[in-house]
Amino acid sequence: MPKPLDGKNALVTGASRGIGRAIAQRLAADGATVAIGYANRPDAADQVAAAITADGGTAFPLPAPLGTHGDAAALWAAYDRRITAHTTRTGVDIIVNNAAIGRSPDLHTITETQFDELFATNVRAPLFIVQQAHRRLHDNGRIINISSGTARLAMPDIMAYGATKGALDTLTLNLAQLLGPRNITVNSLAPGIVDTDTNAAWLRDDPDAQAWASSLAALGRVGRPDDIAGIAAFLASDDARWVTGRTIDATGGALLGV
Ligand code: NAD
Repeated sequence: MPKPLDGKNALVTGASRGIGRAIAQRLAADGATVAIGYANRPDAADQVAAAITADGGTAFPLPAPLGTHGDAAALWAAYDRRITAHTTRTGVDIIVNNAAIGRSPDLHTITETQFDELFATNVRAPLFIVQQAHRRLHDNGRIINISSGTARLAMPDIMAYGATKGALDTLTLNLAQLLGPRNITVNSLAPGIVDTDTNAAWLRDDPDAQAWASSLAALGRVGRPDDIAGIAAFLASDDARWVTGRTIDATGGALLGV
């Protein structure tokens, strides 16, 4: 039976764990050939690719430390070399800019280095990935930037992180305008609190934290990576062809009652 993303090539950054892993698995289940971008855990990226292959999909690990123009150029050079081993189609149809630094110090403690690292990974990297992808990106393509509900909420403890996601949403708007004539859609997907390793220390084993985090969402629970992956799969599909330049809320209705 045909699948919605049959014949499509996808790159997911930061896909060795968490939301990126779930998105990579879902895009592969929907038929795409998926590059599993990773920075420093080849074993974990290998495991994701192996799990996808065991399920009948196609995926391969792609070393992809991110932040600079040179990193993006190296990523695409490695992608070009590796994609041909897995499919006869070159180029890329779907880019998911997922990798990010997820926490940030507060106003009083943040250093210039920490601020710069946050913006390099969360904003500069997606910009240069798209810039360097340009000639490889097929018409009718999809760019999905993983933003955050914190871009639109006052959360002073992580304000610099929230600011990176606000900047990413602005990039989304502008890239959508720029790439629209080629029928390439560009959207942000903004999760609320999701149960991933990055939140494990404060969330997973603390019933009070679980209850507080669940109470923020109208749907009454913390998000799961596959909640986000399903929305990413929709945005990647042909059914989402008329949605572009938007930030899609994926928070389970966070703070609707406030
Ligand atoms: P995570 O920390 O589990 O995974 C992030 C991935 O990004 C990791 O694989 C990490 O290695 C990679 N990464 C970080 N810096 C990198 C760099 N410089 N180069 C290459 N890779 C790098 O995070 P997650 O919880 O799965 O979140 C995924 C995305 O969702 C992020 O963009 C995050 O901001 C966003 N998000 C997460 C939540 C949440 O509650 N988990 C909420 C809102 C938004």
